[in-house]
Amino acid sequence: MRSVITGLRGEAGFLYIAKARELARRGVDVISFGVGQPDIPTFDHIIEEGKRALEEKFTGYTETAGIPELREAIAEYLNTRYQAGVKPDEVLATTGAKTAIFLAVAAYLGPGDEVIVPEPSYPAYPETARAMGARPVFIPLKWRGPEHGFELDVEAIEKAVTERTKMIVLTNPHNPTGALFGPEQVEAVLEIARKHGLVVLADEIYDNFVYEGGFRSILTFSGWKDHVLYVNGHSKTFSMTGWRLGYLVAAKPVIERIKRLAVNVYSCPPSISQRAGVAALKGPWEPVEKMVEEFRRRRDAVVEELRRVPGFEVAVPRGAFYVFPRVAKVLEETGMSTEEFVDHLLYSRGVVTLPGTVFPEKAGEGFIRLSYAISVERIREGVGRIREEVEKLLAEKTR
Ligand code: PMP
Repeated sequence: MRSVITGLRGEAGFLYIAKARELARRGVDVISFGVGQPDIPTFDHIIEEGKRALEEKFTGYTETAGIPELREAIAEYLNTRYQAGVKPDEVLATTGAKTAIFLAVAAYLGPGDEVIVPEPSYPAYPETARAMGARPVFIPLKWRGPEHGFELDVEAIEKAVTERTKMIVLTNPHNPTGALFGPEQVEAVLEIARKHGLVVLADEIYDNFVYEGGFRSILTFSGWKDHVLYVNGHSKTFSMTGWRLGYLVAAKPVIERIKRLAVNVYSCPPSISQRAGVAALKGPWEPVEKMVEEFRRRRDAVVEELRRVPGFEVAVPRGAFYVFPRVAKVLEETGMSTEEFVDHLLYSRGVVTLPGTVFPEKAGEGFIRLSYAISVERIREGVGRIREEVEKLLAEKTR
């Protein structure tokens, strides 16, 4: 049997979770900075609505784009927050943000097309593009040192546009670096899209995990409907990763077209999750605010601890729940590759991190990603272990 899909990569995060589980089974006290999901369970009022949906036997197929209440709640949420002017028929609820990404990519990229992907990047965009026969063109983010962190290289993005370019990916807040791209950078990307007739795949799934000023949704820019395929979802904001609920927002004719693909792939998002998803958006929002406050404390703790590790260069992440320290100096001293260093931390100290090279290749060389979705206490313990191990490695080297 010969598949036309060849050479796709899985998501490395899941691979490292499997390695960590194996270690834990052998009795190791594993501390995981690997997983990209809040450790806090879905809030009770959301679970209650899910239960109610089950009790009412709300268990059949629904409208492909989602029940009207959900599409209305999503539009209302975005309009309240961003004055975005979204109408319910410009919303397609999906089975997680990943499905929204897949549908957008499948609808806009075909064989020979190019998509500009700032790198490091969440792997789903380039991998689904490849599945469609398109080519991801990676443009490295600019590393401006621990003071300033990562920036979009807008000039390089514009230079990379060719006749084949169809799409630019913009993840903001950014996974895996935790960077926030400022309004001028978002505007510049939109301008390139306008000038060259391109689509911007804007993934703002971390828009509630913002710890500093400076974030402006792409939906606040006028004329976004002409160019933007907007991705967001419930997974991170409401800690609902397993419910599989996300959404795509775009101009109505685009949504109508993509809906026809969706109905042929999965019919509709899970009915129970949709009901719960409405309750999530309607609030109360205090649990979300509390969670984000807790993540801010975690961010401060992880940065403080990482900055004590010799050879680590740490920019303060301003959004999402990832920190992406540069460890190249340690690698130079020890002769390890990024992957070897990550494996070494796992097997010597039971600490799970991810090599920057899985996002998805070169630009992450010399960086590691830590997800700080664990308690402050475990963060201090885990990074403490990393520090001890690095100190040991460096001492062995100089002996
Ligand atoms: N986009 C980004 C940037 C992500 O980090 C993730 C999850 N790690 C997703 C999309 C996928 O989210 P979902 O679980 O809703 O499919």
